[in-house]
Amino acid sequence: MFHVKQDIYKTRKYCPVCGNDSFKQHSVVTDYFLTKKEFSISQCKKCDFLFTNPYPDDSIISEYYKSDSYLSHPKSKFSIFSLVYNLIRRLNIKNKYRVVTKGIEVGNVLDIGCGSGDFLNYCKEHNWKIYGVEPNTEAREFASKRVGEEIFHPDHQKYFQSQSFDLITLWHVLEHIDDLDVQFAEIKRILKSTGRLVIALPNYKSYDANLYGNFWAGWDVPRHLHHFDRSTISILAKRYGFNLENVYPMVWDAYYVSLLSEKYLNSRLFPLKALSNGWKSNSKARKTLEYSSLIYIFSSESMD
Ligand SMILES: [Zn+2]
Repeated sequence: MFHVKQDIYKTRKYCPVCGNDSFKQHSVVTDYFLTKKEFSISQCKKCDFLFTNPYPDDSIISEYYKSDSYLSHPKSKFSIFSLVYNLIRRLNIKNKYRVVTKGIEVGNVLDIGCGSGDFLNYCKEHNWKIYGVEPNTEAREFASKRVGEEIFHPDHQKYFQSQSFDLITLWHVLEHIDDLDVQFAEIKRILKSTGRLVIALPNYKSYDANLYGNFWAGWDVPRHLHHFDRSTISILAKRYGFNLENVYPMVWDAYYVSLLSEKYLNSRLFPLKALSNGWKSNSKARKTLEYSSLIYIFSSESMD
């Protein structure tokens, strides 16, 4: 088990989505991934937004990412888990690109939290001018070499020119970002008024989330500070003048999240159970549209 040396917590007094100041406790979830510590999730009484509260201070949050398996590098060690994981990655990337570039011209793309640069690499192969930011030093250096472009620390975002991107993507990244207002204001400034914003998020209203409860890997506390659904991401984006245009499923995530959740449950035959539950989650979601993870596509509001 991994031990965090000394915890310093921060507490939210206002809902990060609507600014309301009254919450109730939604649940207590364990960090099964790394520390086995418990974290509370608060729910806003006004907009129902869920957020990890209290949550680790900036000075110690990196302690919660200290695991080889958290880095989104292609896995080299052979195991059924890494085999499935890498297979999903390959199939996923093509689908991601197809969905988010549908109906738009090639241009400048910024991937915020680009990890090892898989998505950017694919965009580059399809003639996009690519830009990436990534907080993790190791992943950043890996991605820079991989894509052959400098990948920046997120602090660099302020140096990007206003209205310079046609497409900005955040693949399972926004839920990790502490100050949503700072991030959204930056996106608003650097995205062209004709540009597209794409945000992929886990969905706690999915069948697999309900099935696994506190063992659901999509909670991923305390690394996930925010837990969005269709309504709360729309309210937040709307405050910055973004309209929700489309929502697409990430069908592979149901399998991946089920696989992790089964591992947290220490279940035997976990690959088989994950396959079965991932499949069930996607089947249910065909009716409810509550897939395990969702891709939200936003456009800027027209000025007239
Ligand atoms: Zn709220």
